[in-house]
Amino acid sequence: MAPMSAPVNSDRPFLNRRLAAFGTTIFAEMSALAARTGSINLGQGFPDTDGPAEIAEAAVRAIRDGRGNQYPPGPGVPELREAIAAHQQRFYGLGYDPDTEVLVTAGATEAIAAALLALLEPGDEVIALEPFYDSYAACIAMAGAVRVPLTLRAPDFRPDLDALRDAITPRTRLLLLNTPHNPTGTVLTPEELAVVAELAVERDLLVVTDEVYEHLVFEGGHTPLASLPGMRERTVTISSAGKTFSFTGWKVGWVTAPPALVSAVRSAKQFLTYVSSGPFQYAVAEALALPDAYYTAFRADLAAKRDLLTEGLTAAGLRVFHPQGTYFITTDISPLGEKDGLAFCRALPERCGVVAIPNQVFYDDQEAGASQVRWAFCKKTEVLREAVDRLRAL
Ligand code: PMP
Ligand code: GLN
Repeated sequence: MAPMSAPVNSDRPFLNRRLAAFGTTIFAEMSALAARTGSINLGQGFPDTDGPAEIAEAAVRAIRDGRGNQYPPGPGVPELREAIAAHQQRFYGLGYDPDTEVLVTAGATEAIAAALLALLEPGDEVIALEPFYDSYAACIAMAGAVRVPLTLRAPDFRPDLDALRDAITPRTRLLLLNTPHNPTGTVLTPEELAVVAELAVERDLLVVTDEVYEHLVFEGGHTPLASLPGMRERTVTISSAGKTFSFTGWKVGWVTAPPALVSAVRSAKQFLTYVSSGPFQYAVAEALALPDAYYTAFRADLAAKRDLLTEGLTAAGLRVFHPQGTYFITTDISPLGEKDGLAFCRALPERCGVVAIPNQVFYDDQEAGASQVRWAFCKKTEVLREAVDRLRAL
């Protein structure tokens, strides 16, 4: 992906102005580079091992039994909506009505797009944590709205809450949060969330919160923003089966929110995909009901992989910023005498047969992210070991 502020691309003369600044996503570019060079792909965040076999079987069974092979209901199949509501109750004590307060989407990606397209007027300002997940900037742009970054800065990547207060103007309509945060691995603390909530209530803002890594918090637990006082009624919470159950290709995501917000998001969603992933919806309903042992083992497995990759990246001479959540590690390449993460990542396959993601493409403030590189650790242990071996060449 070109930097978000890049000029109009002359080889795409038909692309409208709203999207002109957005090139091919960095994930597509880097996965193609990995395939072309036969490199180990620690770039795009997808696991190299599929989720539980019994859940894959449930999908096969649904197809064979003729469940979901034709258009499922617009809001999602009842079994999945009930399972999502039960999950919110089980893990967070949050009650949502499966009929009016849950919406199934084509991954979190569609949930984000539909929420922003539904809730924003052209010219509205959206405050989002920078570095932003790439689809946020594009969807804000497609909605004709304006993104206002709240920059998380190395080494701690904590949000500056005074800067947040100052960033809110009469045009601010919405806060777009992401915790655990991709790419930095920051998990907002209950205290930080409390200040965000206070400001949202005081300034009467809507909040869209992307919590797709909710089950990948390695220290403490996950606090959904919607659980804070005054937040349930103004918060659209987004999650997805892709990360939690290691089926990123199924593209089953969801929204939980009060009825008025769900019906707004559904209005946009119905004209994007209408519906998707019919049989997979039944399988994800079963996945959500897996016992606590599944969730605990999933987190423990990734925590061990985080430690393995942290050690390897440190040994390779990079500065590691310890992630509290997600399956990504952000590093600084300056100790290697490198300054430009994009150039570094483009050269890395040649140098040592590994692919990573340059964080600078997630920043408007190019300086802030220039020397940061992100590594995914949702890979087999032997793959991570081999990558670490190769990185010694640095
Ligand atoms: N939000 C964040 C922060 C992500 O990292 C991703 C990538 N999984 C998504 C949204 C998209 O999720 P999905 O694959 O369910 O569309
Ligand atoms: N969420 C994944 C990541 O951050 C990528 C998903 C995608 O390719 N759109 O790496």
